[in-house]
Parts: sequence; structure tokens; C-alpha cells
Amino acid sequence: RDLKGCPQDKDELGRSTWKFLHTMSVNYPEKPSIQEQKDMVNFLGLFGKFYPCAPCAEDFRKDLEQNPPKVESDMALSRWLCQAHNRVNIKVGKPEFDCSKVLERWRDGWKDGSCD
Ligand code: FAD
Repeated sequence: RDLKGCPQDKDELGRSTWKFLHTMSVNYPEKPSIQEQKDMVNFLGLFGKFYPCAPCAEDFRKDLEQNPPKVESDMALSRWLCQAHNRVNIKVGKPEFDCSKVLERWRDGWKDGSCD
């Protein structure tokens, strides 16, 4: 089915959103200012308020409370987000992702050169 130009379903929206969130996390500053750290915590809270899949957003808000975001560096945020995505993967029955590979997947490309 060609769904180009159609509204987003939950899965398509999820794929696009994870793409954005992971790409943002690996490009977050290595040494963020206190203000940048506060802004990222606020961003994630507001994201959880407005993410347009109500049950997903509700669970994400609960997850933020139980697992507060780590915003002290790019590596900390990338790892935290990878683990948050894995908690969703577990919930929806998808395989867990190896978080040691998050930079290859979302920033540097795979070591075999397949993204070059
Ligand atoms: P996705 O899970 O969308 O992942 C996209 C790509 O990211 C994968 O192909 C893989 O290369 C990479 N990846 C996978 N896991 C990780 C990881 N841990 N770290 C880094 N990269 C990774 N769907 C529901 O049915 N119920 C929900 O409650 C729900 N909550 C969601 C909450 C949020 C905040 C978001 C953004 C999405 C949510 N979704 C939910 C959608 C769901 O997570 C998937 O996006 C959707 O099912 C499509 O899955 P996918 O198999 O295409 O891969």
C-alpha cells in the first residue's frame, strides 16, 4: 500500500519520532550548560504532554517519573534515551537494542562502512 501523503499511524509516527529523538540526543552538547540541561528536561516533559498518541504519551510521562532523564552530556542522554526506547520495545514485544551501538546507528554509521 502506498501511504505517502496520508496521516501518520502510530507505528509510522513512532519510527519518525524515534529517528528525531535519537538524532537529537547524539547531537546534544558534550558539556551542556545548566540552562541547556534544564531546557532538555523541560523539552522531554513537554514532549510527553503533547506527543500525539495518548496512551504512548501517558506511559512516557510515567516513565519519565520513574527514570528521570540524564542530561549531563550527549553520552548520558543518548544512553538514557536508548534505554527508554528499550522499555517501550519490551512493552510492545519488540527486541531490545544494544545500547553500546547507539552512536553507530544514529551518528557515526556502522563500522562496516555500509552508511558511507
Ligand atoms: P521503532 O521502535 O520505531 O525503532 C526505529 C529504529 O530505531 C529501529 O529500526 C532501530 O534501528 C532503532 N532502535 C530500536 N530500538 C532502539 C533503542 N532502544 N535505541 C536506539 N535505537 C533503537 N507503540 C505502541 O504500540 N505502544 C506504545 O505505548 C508506544 N509508545 C511510544 C512512545 C514513544 C515516546 C514513541 C516515540 C513511540 C511509541 N510507540 C508505541 C511506537 C513504537 O515505539 C514504534 O515506533 C513502532 O511500533 C514502530 O516500530 P519499529 O519496529 O518500526 O521500530
